[in-house]
Amino acid sequence: MANQEDIFKKVISHAKEYGYVFQSSEIYDGLSAVYDYAQNGVELKKNIREYWWQAMVQLNDNIVGIDAAIFMHPTTWKASGHVDAFNDPLIDNKDSKKRYRADVLIEDHVAKIEAKIEKEVKKAAKRFGDSFDKEQFLATNQRVLDYQTKVDGILKRMGKSLENEDLADVKSLIEELEIACPLSGSKNWTDVKQFNLMFGTKLGASADSAMDLYLRPETAQGIFVNFLNVQKTGRMKIPFGIAQTGKAFRNEIVARQFIFRMREFEQMEMQYFIKPGTQQEWYEKWKEKRMKWHLSLGMGEDNYRFHDHEKLAHYADAAADIEFRFPFGFKELEGIHSRTDFDLSQHEEFSGKKLQYFDPEENKSYVPYVLETSIGLDRMFLAVFSNSLKEEELENGTTRTVLKIPAVLAPTKAAVLPLLKRDGLPEVAHKLIDELRWDFNVIYDEKDAVGRRYRRQDAAGTPFCVTVDHQTLEDETVTIRHRDTMEQQRVKLSEVKDIISKEVDMRYWLQKI
Ligand code: ATP
Repeated sequence: MANQEDIFKKVISHAKEYGYVFQSSEIYDGLSAVYDYAQNGVELKKNIREYWWQAMVQLNDNIVGIDAAIFMHPTTWKASGHVDAFNDPLIDNKDSKKRYRADVLIEDHVAKIEAKIEKEVKKAAKRFGDSFDKEQFLATNQRVLDYQTKVDGILKRMGKSLENEDLADVKSLIEELEIACPLSGSKNWTDVKQFNLMFGTKLGASADSAMDLYLRPETAQGIFVNFLNVQKTGRMKIPFGIAQTGKAFRNEIVARQFIFRMREFEQMEMQYFIKPGTQQEWYEKWKEKRMKWHLSLGMGEDNYRFHDHEKLAHYADAAADIEFRFPFGFKELEGIHSRTDFDLSQHEEFSGKKLQYFDPEENKSYVPYVLETSIGLDRMFLAVFSNSLKEEELENGTTRTVLKIPAVLAPTKAAVLPLLKRDGLPEVAHKLIDELRWDFNVIYDEKDAVGRRYRRQDAAGTPFCVTVDHQTLEDETVTIRHRDTMEQQRVKLSEVKDIISKEVDMRYWLQKI
């Protein structure tokens, strides 16, 4: 089996070859950690955004959307804590001159120990066969328990030192764990320093009157500052939510994982305003709801897990990540944070305006608590794309490359293929496309033998191929081929639209939530 690195390389090259993701400004050798979405990528991204938006806004009476500006008044970022505390701890290797995030170095070390646990589990599962009880094994096997104690100890210590801003201890931890630079193998480290991640820019023409601004590092603050506007104009009653998707910018120190960590990226965030004291209940509910959303896409339950935060951000009283099994291991895909009344209270203090809700049931006003769900659209894209890319061995001994993107998210739903370029077949194919394009993205392909065209569509992720042949001219039937099973059916031309609709309609997928 290919190793993780090879699989990831294949993902990146496939994304380029099939028109999903290009490096930004590639003709100038690119810009680090900035990417462009290509003709297929833009459709996949749009579909993921829409799938999220429908689940949040359309299907919930009490959640509405907004689209706030990227530029915000600079005081916003003082109030939110980003000016003072939006830092990453960084450390340089003196030999390779490479810069790392200290917490990521430690987490990668932990991931290696966790991989050992997984290996033990796999070995034992093989040995015990059907009678294997994973929970029991994890709770009783001494080797696994030792590894787990180690993991817990490291994360706890790291969490504590980061929380106390004890950067010297973070360095000591790296030294004690004998973590080496992945590039040079050297353990010759500088001290750990803090680095602010916000991009600064200026508003205004003349040098003296220009105002220093930041590109927003998260979309959430656009929601908080509009809380009262939305509550009043929408006559919203607590609990209610405000959802938003949009660009965010972070000057990431380590940005080497394709679209996993970008400097310009898109977030899909929802802030849920609740009564103080109910945060634990909503935290659990939203964790469950968000996991269901992920699972509805059918990408495999084993590929997700919750990770509770050891180190809580300055605004949170509980936080968990939904992690996904990326080609480079389990990593954060979405965060669910109980943000208390931190943000609204801060904005009250810095703006001097009241941001309170009058609760008619309690007959009093209060600053609501907030429960946040925050997912990176680009990370979700990478999760879908990398998980969908498969090399399959076929019965006849050949292999095929297939991109099994959930049909609801696929950029193009069907390709219509005339068997030959003559005898009136292209005309029938075009007529079918003209009918289908009102409902889905469809494409026409007449080049090469039909088998090659099937392979091309498999690799591009198109869930259906519809082939028009001579029999079509006689009895108005076509062959419809399913990407995942390669099964072919002969169906009436008039049924094609319904067959595709059933499998790509968001309604069908969202009903699983
Ligand atoms: P990480 O620990 O990976 O840096 P984070 O905890 O800082 O992420 P949040 O601030 O909670 O991330 O942001 C919410 C979501 O936004 C993340 O779960 C992730 O999906 C996405 N995200 C954050 N930073 C980036 C980035 N640089 N590129 C792409 N997506 C990102």
